[in-house]
Amino acid sequence: MAGLLIKGSEISKQIREELKQEIAELKDKHNIIPGLATILVGEDEASKVYVGAKEKACKELGIFSERIDLPAQTKEEEILVLIERLNKESRINGILVQLPLPKHINETKVLYAVHPDKDVDGFHPVNVGKMILGDPAFLPCTPHGILQLLMRSGIDTNGAEVVVVGRSNIVGKPIANMLIQKKKGGNATVTVCHTGTKDLASHTRRADILIVAAGRPKTITADMVKDGVVVVDVGVNRLPTGLVGDVDFEPVKEKAKAITPVPGGVGPMTITMLMYNTVRAAKMQAGIV
Ligand code: NAP
Repeated sequence: MAGLLIKGSEISKQIREELKQEIAELKDKHNIIPGLATILVGEDEASKVYVGAKEKACKELGIFSERIDLPAQTKEEEILVLIERLNKESRINGILVQLPLPKHINETKVLYAVHPDKDVDGFHPVNVGKMILGDPAFLPCTPHGILQLLMRSGIDTNGAEVVVVGRSNIVGKPIANMLIQKKKGGNATVTVCHTGTKDLASHTRRADILIVAAGRPKTITADMVKDGVVVVDVGVNRLPTGLVGDVDFEPVKEKAKAITPVPGGVGPMTITMLMYNTVRAAKMQAGIV
């Protein structure tokens, strides 16, 4: 059985079309244009590419974007003052600080300075807390993208055995928390694995849905999954041969009911869900439900 490909690029396009309509309506009915500020500190090449892609997505959808590029030696205090200015600016509904920040800057302090109502990355502890409680919150973009991929591919999480490999704050922990919520797209039984896990395969073999965010190629091989599994590969590993995920794609695909490719799976969803959060932020700040 060769698994169905869950095409993130197509699902992402679908969501962007929905957002375009919502944005046009916001402009027509309320004279509102959502606005996103992106802060990039330093010269990290990958970060420049990500920020460029975010700017491009804003332009495509009709979201106002302010890009602030700062030199690597910028003092932490200057970034905090900038965020304070953006927190107050009415044209800006969402603030995104591109990570990683240079070593002399305290990342936590900077992320906590973003007002929770403008925290479109969903990294502020207020939003993380609300997410865990199941209250309305900005959901972090990559795990929210995974939920959308599953829901829009007709994969039922209700009662499913889900195994998550990885416990990072941006992928593993939030996706596990979202999937245990007693609501549509959740209600799963979730196991979270990490480098302290004894016998990883004994867990992954139980999975109806396996979500892998380890950051290491071939973390999951075909002998580690059961027939009919749904696999979501979050990994992005740049090898001399090209981009690969964390899953040994071809042999695992043969056993899977459905699987996300790399590239073209989870990747395209992350920026789309950032755009989604920016539109939510604009509506919330204007008092539109
Ligand atoms: P991270 O912060 O490096 O965390 C990796 C997690 O995987 C850690 O919890 C680690 O365990 C666990 N792990 C690593 N090797 C393992 C193994 N052999 N067995 C079990 N657990 C293992 O990574 P991240 O930020 O979550 O990102 C993970 C991957 O997803 C990376 O390739 C990243 O580039 C990619 N990513 C993609 C997107 C996207 O938009 N497509 C977004 C975010 C991340 P310990 O906690 O014990 O160290």
